[in-house]
Amino acid sequence: KKPPARKGSMADVPQELLNEIHGYEGDFTVPAEKLQAVTKHFISELDKGLSKKGGNIPMIPGWVMEFPTGKEAGDFLAIDLGGTNLRVILVKLGGDRTFDSTQSKYKLPDEYRTTKNRDDLFNFIAVSLDNFIKEQFPNGVSKPLPLGFTFSYPASQDKINEGILQRWTKGFDIPNVEGHDVVGLLQEKITAMSIPVDVVALINDTTGTLIASLYTDGETKMGVIFGTGVNGAYYDVCSDIEKLQGKLPADIPNDSPMAINCEYGSFDNEHVALPRTRFDIQIDDESPRPGQQAFEKMSSGYYLGELLRLALLETHKKGLIFKNEDISKLEKPYIMDTSYPSRIEDDPFENLENTDEIFVKELGINTTVPERKLIRRLSELIGTRSARIASCGVAAICQKRGYKTGHIAADGSVYNRYPGFKEAAAEGLRAIYGWPKGDAKSYPIQYVSAEDGSGAGAAIIAALTQKRLAEGKS
Ligand code: BGC
Ligand code: MG
Repeated sequence: KKPPARKGSMADVPQELLNEIHGYEGDFTVPAEKLQAVTKHFISELDKGLSKKGGNIPMIPGWVMEFPTGKEAGDFLAIDLGGTNLRVILVKLGGDRTFDSTQSKYKLPDEYRTTKNRDDLFNFIAVSLDNFIKEQFPNGVSKPLPLGFTFSYPASQDKINEGILQRWTKGFDIPNVEGHDVVGLLQEKITAMSIPVDVVALINDTTGTLIASLYTDGETKMGVIFGTGVNGAYYDVCSDIEKLQGKLPADIPNDSPMAINCEYGSFDNEHVALPRTRFDIQIDDESPRPGQQAFEKMSSGYYLGELLRLALLETHKKGLIFKNEDISKLEKPYIMDTSYPSRIEDDPFENLENTDEIFVKELGINTTVPERKLIRRLSELIGTRSARIASCGVAAICQKRGYKTGHIAADGSVYNRYPGFKEAAAEGLRAIYGWPKGDAKSYPIQYVSAEDGSGAGAAIIAALTQKRLAEGKS
């Protein structure tokens, strides 16, 4: 399939719409100098997060204190609680940098994202796990299976098999989980149902991505997610993590590596560095958690469609588009998920007929060709801005750690499926560093597609944890 043309002729677009487009270009374009300034501030915020006093960015030690060797072997279970699906995965680590996995997906009922009863969520996980084990091990198991729990929300850890939820992100909102240990909540249900499973490790998706990719590729420097949320993980050194002083078990040497789940979606919660538009401000104000996840709200998939929707509403209010159309559907918050800008950017240019169909069938709005050109341009601006801003987190970690070369293992729905995102992210990194323009594969620091972090990564971490326990280490 030929990639869609990114540019079409604007000759048929009336001046007033062109002016509107130029306005949006000004709002959503982030020049290299701005990206560099954001990155600079980002580095100081990462450092604050590691200090005793702490800062906006949680910088959570993940208690993975070794690099995988590639020799880890055995059968492990993993659970990945994502935004829309629950995956249960059986991973067979080959011990030779390879792995096999078998998985089942269970659709998380929509209402569970915001259920008033946390038991709904944890029972659902336990029941799904039970079904999976009965399918995979029809003759039962001789001893409890070790499980790594991939939980993609900020959870504080004083050890590997604990995770106290700091706050929900990505539109989740379930009472009585914030401030509680989600490993305990899950293990309770597992034990109550006599499922032969021990939850041995809690893993952030970024940490899983980092470790899974490192298992197969020694050049990996970070694991990052560009999906419904954004975040990154890397290895720091215990002696450089001020807030660990006095917290490190005595048998762990000061120069030990430590995986850090940055949770940098909360970068710039004090709103001093990022170029926020009026739409970003509105999204934040109307979100269930205003003032939180400032960086994420400008770059992650959960918000891209909403940005598009708000901009279209503004242009409509000025009387410039959708004249005499019923826009009641478009007025519904979050009606446009990321698949909207994504499908619109995938529409082969000339007349943008797929975009036409999306607006007619899904939103009940008839559009003209010039209107669709504005919609398309807006989508490009929003997607490109997301990729460029998201790259500031990556550059900040690399500059902080002094990495001059290496691979950034990237995963997530936006990275994998949003048209042009990979290219725009690589270009963002290039712009921050000022490398000469060229083939992205020639850049010293490159994005690469990650291995399955929440499956393989969780399994490797479970294996590393078991080894430590067997050696009597904390
Ligand atoms: C969460 C992170 C997660 C990221 C990507 C964010 O909203 O806080 O824990 O890594 O989304 O899934
Ligand atoms: Mg996920």
